Amino acid sequence: MPQNKSKAPPVVTVSTVELFRARKVAIFLRVAGGPQSYDSETRLHVSENSHPEKVDTLLVGGTVLTMDAERHRYQPGAVAIRGRDIVAVGDEGDLVSRYKAEETVRFDDHLVLPGLINAHTHMPMSLLRGLADDLRLDVWLHGYILPVEREFATPEFAFLGTTLSCAEMLRGGTTCFVDMYYHEEEVAWAAVEAGMRGICGETVVKFPTPNAQSYEDGLRYCEEFMSHWVDHDLIVAAPAPHSIYMTTPEILEATTALARQFNVPHLMHVAETRDEVEELLATSALRPVRWLEEHGILEHPLIAAHCVHVNSEEIQLMARYGVGVAHNPTSNLKLASGIAPLAEMLQRGVQVGIGTDGCASNNDLDMVEEMRLAALLPKAVTRNPVAVPAEEALAMATIYGAQAIGLDHLIGSLEPGKRADLIVVGLDALHQSPFLETTNANIYSHLVYATQASDVRDVWVNGRQLVRDGHLMRIDVPQVLERASELGRQITRFFVQREGRILDKLVDIAPLEQRETFEVQVKGALRDSAAFYKGLEHPDVHQIAHTSRDQYDTYFFFDRNAPQRLRYREDQVIQLDGTVHPIYNLTLTGPAKEAEYEHSVVLSRSRYTAEADRSLRFYREYFGPEKVVEIGKHRERYHIRFKGLDFAVNLDQIQSPRSAGPFVEIKSRTWSQRDAEQKARLIGDLLGILGAQPEDVLPHDYADLFMAPEEE
Ligand SMILES: [Zn+2]
Repeated sequence: MPQNKSKAPPVVTVSTVELFRARKVAIFLRVAGGPQSYDSETRLHVSENSHPEKVDTLLVGGTVLTMDAERHRYQPGAVAIRGRDIVAVGDEGDLVSRYKAEETVRFDDHLVLPGLINAHTHMPMSLLRGLADDLRLDVWLHGYILPVEREFATPEFAFLGTTLSCAEMLRGGTTCFVDMYYHEEEVAWAAVEAGMRGICGETVVKFPTPNAQSYEDGLRYCEEFMSHWVDHDLIVAAPAPHSIYMTTPEILEATTALARQFNVPHLMHVAETRDEVEELLATSALRPVRWLEEHGILEHPLIAAHCVHVNSEEIQLMARYGVGVAHNPTSNLKLASGIAPLAEMLQRGVQVGIGTDGCASNNDLDMVEEMRLAALLPKAVTRNPVAVPAEEALAMATIYGAQAIGLDHLIGSLEPGKRADLIVVGLDALHQSPFLETTNANIYSHLVYATQASDVRDVWVNGRQLVRDGHLMRIDVPQVLERASELGRQITRFFVQREGRILDKLVDIAPLEQRETFEVQVKGALRDSAAFYKGLEHPDVHQIAHTSRDQYDTYFFFDRNAPQRLRYREDQVIQLDGTVHPIYNLTLTGPAKEAEYEHSVVLSRSRYTAEADRSLRFYREYFGPEKVVEIGKHRERYHIRFKGLDFAVNLDQIQSPRSAGPFVEIKSRTWSQRDAEQKARLIGDLLGILGAQPEDVLPHDYADLFMAPEEE
């Protein structure tokens, strides 16, 4: 694919990174920084007045929900921030007497709580929001997402998409994300520009990707990328081997070693679909988590996204090894992957965070909505309304999430010494009113069941204010929207053009085995097969080979103006010992007829054949034909030589949709007009020898002959 660099390994050097930055900083605002900067620690401990102690920001007035182990809350409460850290959390009166702040922010009638942690996403995919919806995962991924990514997923795409995602997430109260994508160097830079915290996982898989020709290239990029971000204040750079099925044990061994070398977590998708589990069981007799244990992958901290299809044994293994799970309820619902056994995971002590997954399968990055689903789904599944209470859902989006991704020493709760990643949320919008504080649990249910992402008022990450009164302070929103729309128009154009070209769609999913062959052919009805067999004995007919087959053909017809049709064939060749060897292929034919000769012999062309390695169901959903015709037949195929030229002769008995036949079909490859004319003449003679009269010649394909009348 054109975006794969062909020569040098695609390592981003510091100078090219700087170049990208220089081109892209236009989408960030330089003016409206918060009162603090990263080096504000240099302003600590001003000596002139040790009492009260100086801090940068003091938030005072409303309810502080700490999400610490004891679930302390303060009302009216306060939080003191100095530099990147939380200095104190407590009662308003206490903190106001102890600290003197450069800036005091009042949050009366509001809540302060830890910033939300999105434990699994694909940041740049916000640019593919709504690309192709309501499809099965394989059609969605292989038919739409991957072809569009091959065309568009450049470094600039990763940077812009990440910026758009940061804007949406910050505005909705998310302060930290765990990402998996390509060009992760760009994801990291965009996050830093936006001021967000993130674990950036560079995808390593066994196939070529938008930034690596081979997995060795991918590993090299990953290692180089990780070496750029060691000990960064906001970014953890990590390896993200996509999944067991997209990698190999060799790749996973290498990425585990990298994660260990840099002391960072390892990111994977695990047990997302039932198919994935069944395929692994068929090849290894092990379920995914057991497989990971067997291959030593669980020995190092792993963040496992999805874990929808894990059984009790696997849940216990995850708890024992301290695997962090990223639960993605919306994505699992939308792609019909299933519903993860969340209640059991929590009950057995698995560390579970919540993720949105990428925008192409969600279609937003709204963590409040994910919390709500995380609390609601287990209730319905277990028919138990106390299965996962709202407080647990909020914990998953904060402190449990921090534990799951290995950052709970820094974030996830409001405690002195942790980073100041916190949000202020309104409590008095129409959809939240009134707020009845009848029990201690109400505040959690109010947040999870009634609050919306848009109720977030202010956001701080690493002590720096990034959202104030609902406005993003560092990201130039109109600029980002304009650039995203422009790219959206390009993607739409590409997509619409491809949808109109069956051949392009075929090329995107299957390597073509054969292109453009030209054939002369004729078909005729026989009164009985005895004349056919007698014809094979004719002195001018020399048999070269013979096979018996059962063929099941499914023809896809598209709109009337496009005369192309696609045939999916299951060709069961019956061997001499009676065993059957099925071959599956896809053949795209152009206009049925290119030219017509004597005896209705036609010249057909534009045939493209590809191996069909996916299910018929996949192709039906992917190509979306207007009409489908299925034909089953038994075929005796003979390769013969007649007057010095080679022909294929088929004796066909149609079995479905209804019994018909026998038919004779004669074909020969050709390459020129003259050759075609000569062969057409010989086919006319051969037709007579094999028992078909000129009036028995059929001008149509089987698909046309046996189309149900109501479909015509
Ligand atoms: Zn994912």
